[in-house]
Amino acid sequence: MRRVRIFDTTLRDGEQTPGVSLLLGEKVEIAHALADLGVDVVEAGFPAAAPAEAEAVAAIARSVRGVAVAALSRTTPADLEAASRALEGAQRPRMHVFSSASEVHIRSIFQRSREEVVEDAVRAVETAAKRFDDVEFSPQDATRSDVDFLVGYYRAVVEAGATVVNIPDTVGYAWPWQMYDLVRRVREALPPEVQVSVHCHDDLGLAVANSLASLLAGADQVECTVNGIGERAGNASLEEIVTAMRVRPDVLPFDSGVRSDRLVAVSRLVAERTGVVVQPNKAVVGANAFRHESGIHQDGLLKDRGTYEIIDPASVGAESRLVIGKHSGRHALRRELQALGFFPDEAGVRAVWQEVKAVAARRGDLSAEALRAIAARILAPAEAPAGVGES
Ligand code: MN
Repeated sequence: MRRVRIFDTTLRDGEQTPGVSLLLGEKVEIAHALADLGVDVVEAGFPAAAPAEAEAVAAIARSVRGVAVAALSRTTPADLEAASRALEGAQRPRMHVFSSASEVHIRSIFQRSREEVVEDAVRAVETAAKRFDDVEFSPQDATRSDVDFLVGYYRAVVEAGATVVNIPDTVGYAWPWQMYDLVRRVREALPPEVQVSVHCHDDLGLAVANSLASLLAGADQVECTVNGIGERAGNASLEEIVTAMRVRPDVLPFDSGVRSDRLVAVSRLVAERTGVVVQPNKAVVGANAFRHESGIHQDGLLKDRGTYEIIDPASVGAESRLVIGKHSGRHALRRELQALGFFPDEAGVRAVWQEVKAVAARRGDLSAEALRAIAARILAPAEAPAGVGES
């Protein structure tokens, strides 16, 4: 198993989710939760963006221990100064300098030559490397850039002192085999002590697949966010990357320092503080990720969990639930009724089942309270012992 690094950018790229704005206290709270979760790097923000942003990065740098704290900076002296100041109190500061690499970015955003853009980046990395041992460089839109130019660009910033080079798929355009080839090419071109990182966006729904393909190609670090939040369609989702590695070590022989059983709790914290709701069918942390309503699936699960669950729910801090709705079967219903303290005979189960189907057809699945009410109404008192609570 190869140890790979998890760079969390929930507080930087994730906070750039449209409509999200976290208060300083909330950012510090999330940063501590991420450190406890066991990520390797917490990207705390982009200090030059606003004074409040610089204060939040400084507060995180001062109070979070045991992980690297990164601050983002463009190549300008003012940005570098703001980021350096914000990182002053950090135990393990990482300066994260970014520019661009694609023709469309260089022509339209920078309106300069490729050579000038690289020179700027080299100067910025040299400045950063004088103050920090740990300097990451990201050329935006790397996956839509000329590969030979990109490799030369990375060599130049490594020469200038970059210790980590990132391959950002800024617009979510890459495809797993392309990422694989690109990471290989970059990895082979650079000294082994330089870490290669990837940063994948989810515009085509491929961010996690692209991140995993990159690890297979030799990437040392993946950048990701809790719940996959971030610009547009979001970033690669931390919980999905970590869980895929744990469930499929046969094809993904990698370890991270993440304590998986905290994934659901951290997901909920981030959803609550950001207000970005997690879709119910989201892998690993969605409300339905371990809920089963179909009668055939419920029957299989009651016989052997392995029939329909590949992830142990407890391993990610979730619990499995059989949902009583119009698709559920009588086996699961009997099990749920027993959990509520009802022990009906076959005719009783059938009677409750008829009523459950009628109610569920109108309202979807039933809560434990709704099921208890139906059971109490339909079953004879002898079948419904008093004082037995929900188990
Ligand atoms: Mn991004």
